[in-house]
Amino acid sequence: MTALNTITVLGTGVLGSQIAYQTAYHGLDVVAYDVSEEALAAARTRFEGLAARYRAEVPGATEESTAAAVARIRLTDDLADAVSDADLVIEAVPERLDIKRDTYTRLAALAPARAIFASNSSTLLPSDMKDFTGRPDRFLALHYANLVWVHNTAEIMGTADTDPEVYRAVVDFARRTGMEPIELKKEKAGYVLNSLLVPLLDAGAKLFADGIADPETVDKTWRIGTGAPMGPFQIFDVVGLNTAYNISATSPDEGMRAFAEILKRDYIDKGKLGVGSGEGFYRY
Ligand code: NAD
Repeated sequence: MTALNTITVLGTGVLGSQIAYQTAYHGLDVVAYDVSEEALAAARTRFEGLAARYRAEVPGATEESTAAAVARIRLTDDLADAVSDADLVIEAVPERLDIKRDTYTRLAALAPARAIFASNSSTLLPSDMKDFTGRPDRFLALHYANLVWVHNTAEIMGTADTDPEVYRAVVDFARRTGMEPIELKKEKAGYVLNSLLVPLLDAGAKLFADGIADPETVDKTWRIGTGAPMGPFQIFDVVGLNTAYNISATSPDEGMRAFAEILKRDYIDKGKLGVGSGEGFYRY
């Protein structure tokens, strides 16, 4: 299969804007689609912000290379126009199955037959969406992590229907755009990264909620015992305590719901939201 060179990203929110920018920064032309003029205006601001972050944080990034990346992204709110010449469409629309299915139904009719569709969904499986794509053999998950220029994993996960050649082409695309491809051989909720991370965070949360050890002790144990740079509560601070609360408050696990109560009472209600607010379990 020939290399994937014309890329369309659907949704220009937190992740879609990063995926579009990272792809353009690595020299490919990108069309970025969102639903309204207002969303596109927000995207323009996000791309300028990303250019500044790359200049500050990506070795070798210059005024010129970061501006060239912005210039390689074309914004549109017309879906037919966005996908008319796409080799690869990366979908980063909101994490709602109804929105994703509706998006794929419309895409199926508008995109060229050669186009591969890839979902960035964090929690939905490609099997949940493949029947709406009109091309299950050319559909898979391509999952980026937040702050793609630093945490540059691209988890690639097909369904039983995904054509192996399509899978290889997406692995190649990931590598060419500065990502480290993480190849999954079967579908798995949480991919590799969250399959490892979530149990660690849950275990730390319950050691604290059960009164067994405080956050500093849990983190210190993990750091010294394994050589890892951060323990679970340092990671919670990076993720943001609101997100941690939203996930644990609805958990079927009683221990996690107890942790959610502590998070709300002792941290969130006191304005301690993690690194973003200057204080969470730690001060920044
Ligand atoms: P977000 O809310 O920041 O952005 C969603 C964007 O989609 C918005 O710009 C919105 O205007 C747009 N949108 C709304 N309806 C749309 C439609 N019908 N068609 C196209 N665009 C539409 O969300 P996000 O955090 O960027 O998440 C997007 C996807 O990426 C989700 O599937 C999520 O699971 C996944 N993801 C998120 C993260 C993260 O850390 N935020 C990490 C990895 C993967």
